[in-house]
Amino acid sequence: MTTKDYFLADEPALLALAETLANVVKAGQSKAKQVLTIYLIGELGAGKTTFSRGFIQALGHQGKVKSPTYTLVESYQLDAWQVHHFDLYRLADPEELEFMGIRDYLDSNTIILAEWPQRGAGVLPEPDIEISIDYAETARKLVLGALTTRGRELLDKL
Ligand code: ADP
Ligand code: MG
Repeated sequence: MTTKDYFLADEPALLALAETLANVVKAGQSKAKQVLTIYLIGELGAGKTTFSRGFIQALGHQGKVKSPTYTLVESYQLDAWQVHHFDLYRLADPEELEFMGIRDYLDSNTIILAEWPQRGAGVLPEPDIEISIDYAETARKLVLGALTTRGRELLDKL
């Protein structure tokens, strides 16, 4: 698996990496025919939602990015993309995603960002990129791993 490691001293550094990844995704937009899926792994407070906020705003969303903790999903219609930001912490059973109609979320030009993706195992699409975030006091250690060809192409450009 292709991986990239980052040591990010503070929140602005983490937001900057999220923005860089969003810019790489934007640059590869012609390949956007299939869904791009990004998993975010890490404990509560690690920075999964913060990373998602940086990513979604860099893709062109101007307003707030709310944590989907209670709603399970927040969706954004951007010019070129639809982004579905999931937080499955409260999901009791992956089947709930079927009842939510997850298949309708899997259109072209779609990006899935998923916090606590383990809880949607088997129903959530497999990831192109998996991002693990670990605490290092107020800094964070991130490992980005590519699990598909498309994921590898994106990470190679970081
Ligand atoms: P999660 O979604 O993983 O539960 P959040 O992104 O909601 O976490 O929260 C991360 C918290 O950690 C925020 O309050 C943020 O300000 C804080 N924080 C402190 N240092 C960092 C850092 N280096 N990178 C990201 N967040 C940080
Ligand atoms: Mg969160």
